[in-house]
Amino acid sequence: MGVYKFRGHACPMCNSGNTSIRTSNKITPAYQVLYYDCNNENCLTRFTANLTTGHVIHTLFEEKANPQPQENSPENQLAFNL
Ligand SMILES: [Zn+2]
Repeated sequence: MGVYKFRGHACPMCNSGNTSIRTSNKITPAYQVLYYDCNNENCLTRFTANLTTGHVIHTLFEEKANPQPQENSPENQLAFNL
């Protein structure tokens, strides 16, 4: 098995894939805004990307066996240390 090498969302200025997620802002359970930094030292652009849940391809989830958790988490800011 190969090692998965993370490549970030392409920088809109220099088009580099060498970007890092600095933080994210969860707007709804299915919609987050991700804050990226470009790691190209000649660019260093900071930009956002929107992440939305697409459709479910496959699931073993059963509604009755796994009731939906309540939306009571006070934490809607997630910090990433990459
Ligand atoms: Zn860049």
